[in-house]
Amino acid sequence: MSEHQDILVGVGRNGRKQISLKRVALGQRALQRAAAGYVFTMVALVAVPRVAIGLPQAAMLGLVYGLIGLLFIMAIAVVLMTVRLMIALGRNAVLASFLAIGMLIPLVGVLLVASVDGRASRLLRQRGVKVGLLGVPVDELHKLIRGACPKCGYDIRGLTAAVCPECGAAQFYQAGQVHTPAA
Ligand SMILES: [Zn+2]
Repeated sequence: MSEHQDILVGVGRNGRKQISLKRVALGQRALQRAAAGYVFTMVALVAVPRVAIGLPQAAMLGLVYGLIGLLFIMAIAVVLMTVRLMIALGRNAVLASFLAIGMLIPLVGVLLVASVDGRASRLLRQRGVKVGLLGVPVDELHKLIRGACPKCGYDIRGLTAAVCPECGAAQFYQAGQVHTPAA
């Protein structure tokens, strides 16, 4: 679905900056996957020399250097995805890039990822979207698109019925407006 159908919220000073919640959700998913990949590679790097003891030295070195290379790529991916999510959250691109440079300091990196991820989760949960361990599940993404039934994703634009004809859920989205479910 294109961006103009995304549910927008105002952030920043006076809430003047409009951001797409779907972009936030997708950005958070990408960041969490990159971070998981980084941690997984780190664990492999620590474990491989202990587990693969019988391996010839050359093979072991190749494996370790390969994992170091992969770790480097994952680290770059985490930084890029953090910048992308910050921009999706309405942060200034220049400021986001400056903060990303600070991620070269490992502790700063962890804190920044945690803070950006937490902000994304808060914003999404405020809108009644579930945020799991690896971000918003695919079947929750339709809640971030205007005119879709928040329960089943059925297109309810232009419908006047009080309930979704597909699943029977009460309509929370009308005329592009978001209504928070009462329950
Ligand atoms: Zn429905």
